[in-house]
Amino acid sequence: MPSQTLGGPAHADAGSPSLAAGSRLKKFLSYYRPYRGLLAADVACAFVVAAAALALPLCANFVTKRLLSGEPASALLGEIWLVGGVMLALVVVQALCSWFVDYRGHVMGAKMERDMRRELFEHYQRLSFRFYDQQRTGQLMARITNDPLSLAELYHHGPEDLAIAFFKLIGVLAILAWIDVRLTLVVVAILAVMLPYALYFNRRMNRALRRTKDRIGDINERVEDALAGIRVAKSFTNEKLENARFAYHNDRFLSSRSDGYRSEAWFSGGMEAFAQLITIAVIVFGSVAIARDSLDLADLVTFLLCVAVLVDPIKRFANFARSFQEGITGFDRFMEMLEVEPDMADPPDAVVPTQVQGRITFEDVSFRYAEDTAWVVQNLSLEIEPGEFVALVGSSGAGKTTLCSLIPRFYDVTEGAVRLDGVDVRRIRLDALRSSIGVVQQDVYLFGGTVAENLGYGRPDASRDEIIEAAKRAHAHEFIMALPRGYDTDIGERGVKLSGGQKQRLSVARVFLKDPPVLIFDEATSALDSESEEAVHGSLLRLARERTTLVIAHRLSTVRHAKRILVLSDQGIVEEGTHQALLAADGAYARLYRGASI
Ligand code: ADP
Ligand code: MG
Repeated sequence: MPSQTLGGPAHADAGSPSLAAGSRLKKFLSYYRPYRGLLAADVACAFVVAAAALALPLCANFVTKRLLSGEPASALLGEIWLVGGVMLALVVVQALCSWFVDYRGHVMGAKMERDMRRELFEHYQRLSFRFYDQQRTGQLMARITNDPLSLAELYHHGPEDLAIAFFKLIGVLAILAWIDVRLTLVVVAILAVMLPYALYFNRRMNRALRRTKDRIGDINERVEDALAGIRVAKSFTNEKLENARFAYHNDRFLSSRSDGYRSEAWFSGGMEAFAQLITIAVIVFGSVAIARDSLDLADLVTFLLCVAVLVDPIKRFANFARSFQEGITGFDRFMEMLEVEPDMADPPDAVVPTQVQGRITFEDVSFRYAEDTAWVVQNLSLEIEPGEFVALVGSSGAGKTTLCSLIPRFYDVTEGAVRLDGVDVRRIRLDALRSSIGVVQQDVYLFGGTVAENLGYGRPDASRDEIIEAAKRAHAHEFIMALPRGYDTDIGERGVKLSGGQKQRLSVARVFLKDPPVLIFDEATSALDSESEEAVHGSLLRLARERTTLVIAHRLSTVRHAKRILVLSDQGIVEEGTHQALLAADGAYARLYRGASI
């Protein structure tokens, strides 16, 4: 199993499909499981459609034969009406079955598509920070939107195409052989050339299609990047550069697209020509046979009707071959994502603490983001008492954020252990651990939706009053009330843009609402002006009572009152003490403080 840390699954080569690997085939088929009944009905209906298509020429054969038999037409009227009725019934049944295949069959495919998406989405939710550090959002989006889409086609049309194609091909050939073996051999001879031709151009179409998809992926990536950076591009007046970069990918797309169309033209033109070739051959050789009295007109008519049915299975085979290739490639990519093992799974004996005191212990902790990168934290030991208020300061890049992210297990320590109330955090059930820790991160992310919904994200069952209370404590209430629709303002709505400071206050309120026993504030107030920062800090201090609080502050003035200030540098925690003591020591903290207050 590929591990999450091995990285790069999204960039796996689009090599040969590996469905042959037994477990993947099983997985591939497993999506049918909930819809076995539907699949059976779908295939059965497909058979009926095919059978009806075969029966119609036979009925025609019967009628023409009778008409040419020389019997007085008046004696035949009853039979003609009867056969007409049978044909009508066949058409009705065929139409109903076609309807079922087109509607229910497609819905089955769509349901399977939905199931795959849900599975992958839930899988995405389980994967950790480390995974997302290595992936491009565009790729992850493509895996969940495009791949299941192409698979839905295969899932639905695959069995049906195969069933219909086989049944029709064999049925038609049987009928043809029954009518006239020699004429049938002529048809088979042409088919023998037609099939490889179809498969050849089909494969080329498929190859071009895959290239096209890769290139549309490149275009997406380019657009994503360019739009995300559009403000930077404008400020550097680099629009021309961006246009040129885009044009390159856009042109590459065009060239693979035109390759695809060329093969497609060869394919469909060829199929058309072969179909006509068969018809002409049948007419010529059939007429010769009639002239030699070895075939009658009725049989020739039947033969021609059957030949018209014959092209369909060939097209279906080709269609199946293509959607199979495409679907399998998509499935492989889909599975590569799904097979990424979440590296944060709970151990079977994971504990759920009943009452979190909030003692945090770093025990000889070393951490680096990857094996080939530098250590961010090395042999760090630290003890934070329950209810203690600790400030963590240090220059940017010293590892403050990293250190804090080890507590809720956003990342696991490389060596040593982090403990909560004496229990290794890796032994605590992840949801229990994280719900007892409130983190306000440096970069605030607000979801689409209203202000109230975003605040309620901290505790989905919170009442409106509780939400407002939390907002007041985070000094967000006033600006929220000034928004067009107060708490019900849609944040993503046009014209409603929150400033960095406003967003920060919302994210602080969100954690106030969550009300966890351990609080981590990672430069949570850095975007506020000093006045609001003071105010939010006041609320924070109130909230921090009786709970363990770790504050990383950008402006040292805000942590001046902390009883314990830790100074983090590349060498680990180099100083510790109160503001006064640290200033008096005239070390790293004093230097930081003077630098920050200039
Ligand atoms: P601080 O919060 O003190 O500014 P960080 O903890 O953010 O510092 O970063 C410490 C070091 O770890 C930096 O050198 C940074 O480049 C690196 N780093 C931070 N996040 C990641 C990550 N997700 N993947 C790899 N390296 C990272
Ligand atoms: Mg940081």
